[in-house]
Amino acid sequence: MAACPICKKNDAVAEFKPFCCKRCADVDLHRWMGGQYAIPAVEPPDDWEQVIEATQDGDTPTEFH
Ligand SMILES: [Zn+2]
Repeated sequence: MAACPICKKNDAVAEFKPFCCKRCADVDLHRWMGGQYAIPAVEPPDDWEQVIEATQDGDTPTEFH
């Protein structure tokens, strides 16, 4: 029986697998929702199209490297 990854005390319960209880399952959900595990969004630069054009022209855009 694997221990609950949230509280690391209680064993996982089939109903809330891999957590021990709904509370721990909610904690995990909130971590996801809260962005704790979130990968930072990669926003294209405002001049993205210019960057593409520059790349196609053979120039080295500052946004790369
Ligand atoms: Zn737990």
